[in-house]
Amino acid sequence: MKKKNTVIIGGGAAGLMAAIFSARNGRDTLLIEKNNRVGRKLYITGKGRCNVTNNCDVKTVIANTPTNGKFLYSALNAFSPADTMSFFEERGCPLKTERGGRVFPVSDRAGDIVDTLFSEVKRSGAEIMTSEAGSLITDEGRVKGVCLSDGTEISAEKVIVATGGKSYPLTGSTGDGYRFAREAGHTIIPLRPSLVPVETEEHFGYDADGLLLKNIAIKVIDTKKNKCIYTDFGEAELRRYGLSGAVVRSASAHMKDMESGRYRIEIDLKPALSEEKIDARLVRELTASKGGRYIDILPALMPKALIEDFIKLSGIPADKRCSEITRQQRKDIGQLLKCMTRTVTGFRPLEEAIITSGGVCVKEISPADMQSKLMKGLYFAGEVIDVDCYTGGFNLQAAFSTAYLAANS
Ligand SMILES: Cc1cc2nc3c(=O)[nH]c(=O)nc-3n(C[C@H](O)[C@H](O)[C@H](O)COP(=O)(O)OP(=O)(O)OC[C@H]3O[C@@H](n4cnc5c(N)ncnc54)[C@H](O)[C@@H]3O)c2cc1C
Repeated sequence: MKKKNTVIIGGGAAGLMAAIFSARNGRDTLLIEKNNRVGRKLYITGKGRCNVTNNCDVKTVIANTPTNGKFLYSALNAFSPADTMSFFEERGCPLKTERGGRVFPVSDRAGDIVDTLFSEVKRSGAEIMTSEAGSLITDEGRVKGVCLSDGTEISAEKVIVATGGKSYPLTGSTGDGYRFAREAGHTIIPLRPSLVPVETEEHFGYDADGLLLKNIAIKVIDTKKNKCIYTDFGEAELRRYGLSGAVVRSASAHMKDMESGRYRIEIDLKPALSEEKIDARLVRELTASKGGRYIDILPALMPKALIEDFIKLSGIPADKRCSEITRQQRKDIGQLLKCMTRTVTGFRPLEEAIITSGGVCVKEISPADMQSKLMKGLYFAGEVIDVDCYTGGFNLQAAFSTAYLAANS
């Protein structure tokens, strides 16, 4: 039987970082990854640019971690965003900081982050095995090793489960770690999607499907509390089923009590213009196009693909003469430009989510070293734990910090 000090299951962000620090500590380390290459999810992070961390302090990371942020306190203090940045820069991967503290490789290539981690694993002396872990080997409250899906057994005194969540399963994160944890006696907090597109009662037409609206603002209203719970500015994508895009995914993390009809999203297509300025603009457009029709003034105000839906929503016939548009109708057009509402009916499936919310219950993991409180020698790192953060590089930071702590204990 193959014998190792430490076996790490999963070669994603957390597993790679854990392998590096485990081997560097002189432990005979094996990383098991079921894909034929490591870091598959990392390649698609940050739209292929990898928002690798956030240039902020520990307190800010915790503030951006709505589920169990305080659990990360020790991990973040042991390996902070500044440590992540030094880690990559010292190994020849220069970084840059963008809006909101988001940190990316200067090259804008997520592949550079994977390459840096992969080279460092090699340099550290950790062994990588491309195989699927099937189950944990345990005995009397202690982990003894890992059994691969082909039946091969590997003995280890320490096993780190870094199998990720259950979203984007094609990258390898199919939720195996939850099964390992459950078999070891752990509670799994029910999984739900976070940072995910939403379905809405109203549907955009085929023309608008996939349309990316840039520089728009959104508001999310909790209709039960009659309160605005989130505002953001950036990109939204219109879909037949509802809404996607960066601002909508971020907003989804705030829709904690999802039930059909509870949340309303208001899209402001012209956030830079006040209602008065919009009205003045409409007066100008309508006057200039006196002989023209309502539909003729719209290309100047919005992307072509949105026009059909906009006309339907405004309730004004497309071929109405501009000169015949009443003052009230002009006000309605302005109002629609400032506030196009969508009623959220639910989240898209977990597979489409950036993050899996839920996972191994933090009460059963020691925050000081990420060790299971139920099974000696068993550790957890990364998204498999019931911790999830907002967008901005915080999720990868959480993966790196928990991995560092699990490897170093
Ligand atoms: C489209 C997208 C974009 C994202 N962009 C960002 C971003 O820019 N910034 C950010 O901070 N976060 C981002 N995230 C979130 C971030 O990628 C994850 O939080 C992070 O990758 C979690 O790391 P992990 O190591 O826990 O899991 P993963 O990276 O998912 O790695 C888990 C690994 O375990 C392997 N594995 C699973 N089961 C087994 C098994 N039985 N045997 C062997 N191997 C196994 C998998 O194949 C996989 O390689 C993004 C996520 C998505 C889906």
